[in-house]
Amino acid sequence: MFKEDTICAIATGMGNAGVGIIRISGDNAISIAEKVFIPINEKISVNNMKSYTAAYGNIYDGNNIIDEGILLLMRSPHTYTREDVCELQCHGGMVVMKKVLESVIKAGARAAEPGEFTKRAFLNGRIDLSQAESVMDIISAKNEFAAKSSLKQLKGELRDVINEMRDDILYNVAFIESALDDPEHYSLDGYPQKLRIIVDNTVNNVDNLLTTFDNGRMLSEGIKTVIVGKPNAGKSSLLNMFLGEERAIVTDIAGTTRDVLEEVVNINGIMLNIVDTAGIRETSDVVEKIGVDKALDSVDNSDLVLYVVDGSVPLDDNDERIISRIIGKNVIIILNKSDLETKVDKMLINSYITGEVVELSAITGDGRDRLYDLLNTMFFEGRLSYNDQLYITNARHKKELIFAKESLLKVIESIDMGMEEDFFSIDLMDAYEHLGLIIGETARDDLADKIFSEFCMGK
Ligand code: GDP
Repeated sequence: MFKEDTICAIATGMGNAGVGIIRISGDNAISIAEKVFIPINEKISVNNMKSYTAAYGNIYDGNNIIDEGILLLMRSPHTYTREDVCELQCHGGMVVMKKVLESVIKAGARAAEPGEFTKRAFLNGRIDLSQAESVMDIISAKNEFAAKSSLKQLKGELRDVINEMRDDILYNVAFIESALDDPEHYSLDGYPQKLRIIVDNTVNNVDNLLTTFDNGRMLSEGIKTVIVGKPNAGKSSLLNMFLGEERAIVTDIAGTTRDVLEEVVNINGIMLNIVDTAGIRETSDVVEKIGVDKALDSVDNSDLVLYVVDGSVPLDDNDERIISRIIGKNVIIILNKSDLETKVDKMLINSYITGEVVELSAITGDGRDRLYDLLNTMFFEGRLSYNDQLYITNARHKKELIFAKESLLKVIESIDMGMEEDFFSIDLMDAYEHLGLIIGETARDDLADKIFSEFCMGK
């Protein structure tokens, strides 16, 4: 087991709350807790407490009582870090928690670095790297879907999928090595064709994981949404409707929403990261032009475009220009100002651009529920779909998957070119290592183990 000094940190939030927890982990966790905590019940001694029991008592700094609270004691190895862990529950004020922490440090612990408890859980082999990362993701999850997706990773689903692919690869490398070493017992006749099927399959699996990344990103970061429309169409009013308050400046002088605003809104559990842009139109005003350029950039980087059309005036060149930029994107067309006399209808707008059209009055709120329902439907069933599959949400995992895929494609190339079998092993091992990096495992010893356990070398 990995051995290090004993660490401590405030485990709860950095604001005032009813209860605050100071966590201590390491070989000396219990002896340190004994120095700062004395149970009220004199019969209890901290050192003899059973694992997963609690005691009520006073928390000391030297001889001074600084708070009263509860000590929860957990003994190695059945703890978060696999080390001895003590948690002091004190009152949740910043001053008190800091005092308790300082006292614990005086008693011999070191202040933990960010994520260090989880790092120990990984180093001590309780969780793999993807699980460690998912702990951080769960903590920072901004909505229930993101949390759910991270929880699947924490439970090791990603690890299981990765390990399955790694097992296949390792078996085949071990087979090639053994056959090259011991041709009498292991024949490579017809083997490349078999291997090609297996590698093809693995490439497909890697691809499947990769395609979940964009959806996964939507889940954890919110859907990158951009509101576009010509000046005065009602973009700021729409954003205000989402926000439920007057945050963006609404004005009827064309071209005044100059800068790009970003807001996060939660619509029935679906997170939209909304970029509200300056009105898009041909303009000579320099400042306004910067805004327009930014707006068009945002369109290219978005997952969803909300195109606001002023239904009370005819379509014009500005609309044409916008349409040409958003065709092919995920677009909801919002036919705004439905409370006024209509100059543009669904049929007309759909003759220029296909996509769902929602009639709305951003001012009266009429049509708002239809818009929310549509977002919901799109998210749950359609183009922004969420389902129960495993999502890749971490950019590091994506990068390693891409490397692994490249190596696997090289194997296929070597097979197709009729290369010697030992060429396959090199690239297979590369793929194996990259997949291993996702879960924090390295390769070299695995291969030796595999060869010895599965193939009796040099019989
Ligand atoms: P933007 O330039 O696209 O951001 O447009 P604004 O949101 O600033 O709106 C421009 C003008 O249109 C303002 O005077 C709004 O009050 C008005 N407006 C926006 N939405 C509606 C609507 O649904 N109905 C009516 N009647 N007026 C609206």
